[in-house]
Amino acid sequence: MIPVARPLIGREEEEAVLAVLRSGIIAQGPEVERFEAEFAALCGTRYAVAVMNGTTALYLALLAHNIGPGDEVITTPFSFIATANSILMTGATPVFVDIDPQTYNINPDLIAAAITSRTRAIMPVHLYGQPADMTPIMELARRYHLAVIEDAAQAIGATDHGKPVGSFGVGCFSLYATKNVTSGEGGMITTNDPALADRLRLLRSHGSRVRYYHELLGYNFRMTDIQAAIGRAQLKKCERFTAQRIANAAFLSAHIRHPAVITPFARPEVRHVFHQYTIRVIGNRDSAIKQLNAAGVGTAIFYPLPIPQQPLYRKLGIEAETPVADRIAQEIIALPVHPALSNDELHQIAAAVNALAVSESVAIA
Ligand SMILES: *Cc1c(COP(=O)(O)O)cnc(C)c1O
Repeated sequence: MIPVARPLIGREEEEAVLAVLRSGIIAQGPEVERFEAEFAALCGTRYAVAVMNGTTALYLALLAHNIGPGDEVITTPFSFIATANSILMTGATPVFVDIDPQTYNINPDLIAAAITSRTRAIMPVHLYGQPADMTPIMELARRYHLAVIEDAAQAIGATDHGKPVGSFGVGCFSLYATKNVTSGEGGMITTNDPALADRLRLLRSHGSRVRYYHELLGYNFRMTDIQAAIGRAQLKKCERFTAQRIANAAFLSAHIRHPAVITPFARPEVRHVFHQYTIRVIGNRDSAIKQLNAAGVGTAIFYPLPIPQQPLYRKLGIEAETPVADRIAQEIIALPVHPALSNDELHQIAAAVNALAVSESVAIA
């Protein structure tokens, strides 16, 4: 079976880790600092702050803005649970705004109606590697004095109107094993604001600037030099990996021809980095997945249940009307698009989709 994700670890990563292990400094040290500088350069920001994973990146970005109980943060219902959970962790309330039916990202036209006197921030997600529509989002943020915390976990290297994600507001990245660039587990927060970067560093490490003196309540959310060494080796390959993902996606979209299948839509203004290549199948999805798997094509569903429908959110009584997300969640299937795919495998994936026998297929709206 062609896997839907495959971490690409080579000699460079192996050698970099060995060098750190032999250096005598294995926790947060000079490798983390170098990784931060290189990551900031890639995102076009002044600062990057490394943390242990993408979830803590989101959580600390919210805390650094003093967001907490009584506050509301506007976000998308169609994402990994960590997006909205980071808001819950602070004691604030996530407010869900439905998605655009073409990009599956938060619909900017619906945001204004969700803003209240308690709203403190907007947290868009650049889902599957496609930037959310940042121009109207930044305009709303300016008008209503809101922070923008970008969940860029899936979108390293993506741009909107030529501007890198993570440089619009505060960027939160994940370096989890299956993300486009990995350090095993890891996270990064990008910003141009020196005071915010300083606060993030304090929060990351027990509120301590000088060892054993503590200014505020912080955590131990640090990245190790071992992780940073892997991340630095990966970052050097980021552009090559990304170009290959984009080429693979272009191949699939050019070769998939099926009346009941919708291939991904990319806004013309963006560079979509295809963390996922997600088709919509109008008809019986379970049957389509069985057929694809039988043809040797691995699949995944990101995500089967919109966040407001999750048992946790039901229990909390957080209500949201998100009919578009509810529908899309039942129709999407992620196909392999990672840079390790061979030409034969790409042909095999497209052929398997084109051969789908989809029951109850209806005209695509
Ligand atoms: C992966 C991911 C996260 C969380 O990152 P971790 O490093 O796994 O904590 C958050 N949001 C989105 C959209 C993600 O894909």
